[in-house]
Amino acid sequence: MSTFLQKLSRTVGHHFSPHVHGAPILRLRDVRVEYEQTVALDNVSFEIQRGDRVAVVGPNGAGKSTLFKVIAGVERASAGTVEIFGNEPEGHICIGYVPQRSQIDWNFPVNVADMVMMGRVSKIGLFRQPRREDREHVRRALEQVGLTDLAKRRINRLSGGQQQRIFIARALAQEAELLLLDEPFMGLDAAAQQSIFEILERLGTRGVTILVSLHDLNMASKHFGKVMLLRSRLLGYGAAAGVITAEHLVAAYGAHLHMVKTADGALMVSDTHCEGCE
Ligand code: ADP
Repeated sequence: MSTFLQKLSRTVGHHFSPHVHGAPILRLRDVRVEYEQTVALDNVSFEIQRGDRVAVVGPNGAGKSTLFKVIAGVERASAGTVEIFGNEPEGHICIGYVPQRSQIDWNFPVNVADMVMMGRVSKIGLFRQPRREDREHVRRALEQVGLTDLAKRRINRLSGGQQQRIFIARALAQEAELLLLDEPFMGLDAAAQQSIFEILERLGTRGVTILVSLHDLNMASKHFGKVMLLRSRLLGYGAAAGVITAEHLVAAYGAHLHMVKTADGALMVSDTHCEGCE
């Protein structure tokens, strides 16, 4: 089965879990995830409140994608607990998980509107036809991400920024309360990045909780209320000023740390993009 269909089939299996009164939207306690020889996440604990907008940063291999997968229920923790509104994440309908674009089979023969309608599958059920209400959710989602005019276009005929926006629309159609976006800015030009920021800002004001993994630390501190710094373990979490410190960055990036003095004297720091390159 293609990666695309595997992802879809996971969505189809979703069911609604009731929210536990007073529980945070997301709570991890001592989470550990292992792949054969690798410990991808170790002893990770944090809470996220409804409406938070969090940038997840760290070098390649730090466990960012794994963190999203374990929250979405795609990977299982070998120790610790993940709770969404006080429930286990498996099949929780309020999560919209958007994997990296490179993991999607874009040649799957569907158009933009069909792709966004797939966000409704867990509400519709597999064997019922979409109702007017479902089509209205799709229409609104496309409008919110500015893709109304492209509704009938095949998904393999879109730019990278448009592809990213389809997936945000799909999560909106799903009525996701928690949006997990893995490297949504990767490979996009400045204009496409800006349009994604604007969409995320609008969703944030509507109470959607957003976790975004990215490489650019300046972008993380400028556009997100909170920053989470990972290197298998959680090195820092909170306002950017308290997290993006020299001590934390050396612990996270080691030799891959780059510091550049800017005109106003601030230090800009970024990671290298490829594993093993200088
Ligand atoms: P990031 O998103 O920060 O680059 P990942 O979560 O992709 O980090 O990876 C964390 C670690 O787990 C890396 O060492 C990676 O090689 C390893 N890893 C990720 N996925 C798998 C997998 N399916 N099988 C084995 N190892 C994996």
